[in-house]
Amino acid sequence: MKLLVAVKRVIDYNVKVRVKADETGVETANVKMSMNPFDEIAVEEAVRLLEAGTVTEVVVVSMGIQQCQETIRTALAMGADRGIHVKTDDELQPLAVAKLLAKIVEKEAPDVVILGKQAIDDDSNQTGQMLAGLLGWSQGTFASKIELADGKANVTREVDGGLETLAITLPAIITTDLRLNEPRYASLPNIMKAKKKTIDEMSPEELGVDVAPRLTTLKVTEPVKREGGVKVESVAELVDKLKNEAGVI
Ligand code: AMP
Repeated sequence: MKLLVAVKRVIDYNVKVRVKADETGVETANVKMSMNPFDEIAVEEAVRLLEAGTVTEVVVVSMGIQQCQETIRTALAMGADRGIHVKTDDELQPLAVAKLLAKIVEKEAPDVVILGKQAIDDDSNQTGQMLAGLLGWSQGTFASKIELADGKANVTREVDGGLETLAITLPAIITTDLRLNEPRYASLPNIMKAKKKTIDEMSPEELGVDVAPRLTTLKVTEPVKREGGVKVESVAELVDKLKNEAGVI
């Protein structure tokens, strides 16, 4: 069984994101970038399935600028077998990523594609679902447990009221949620080994995909600054403020 894992290079989750002065987007110059946290979880799950002998190959794919290769190397150091870099300096929206992934799926014929449930930069939560739609494959989104066997996947999902377990037929798309696993740190020997693993490079043109944006961002703004709170002396004062100042009761 073969797995394809999509990994996106995003602003590191520890960085305080700053909006550009012209409100066209967020500042990415000189900002620490890392693998999208949900994609780390996807790589970890794929590598665990590889180690368990359930799957025989894990291929990771990242799309975007040259530095995406660092993200691919991180996944290779965690244990993935080889990488694919779709290189472009153009902005890639979820539909374009899904179309490019669909082309790679045609070439690679994986049994399962694992993606993060969302990229923490655009928070779109769209790519996996769009890919399932384009391919006509089953999907199990927001997975907190995955079991693969006999051409099927049992995917446990966290839903409002508890856990929902779906049985889906392969080939399938699975997207990861936070509690699926805790990703490992790559060891130094594995980082060294990853340098020798193959990364194939291709362009959207070679894959025959028009990646022109379909959506226009009108503006990006900082959240409204929160005002400081006040301490109240008594319950009566609290009730009074909630009633007469906040108007919530
Ligand atoms: P989104 O729909 O943008 O929230 O992204 C959901 C998931 O799609 C991410 O967690 C990644 O697994 C995958 N993805 C999105 N953009 C890219 C990209 N440029 N390269 C590789 N994978 C991506």
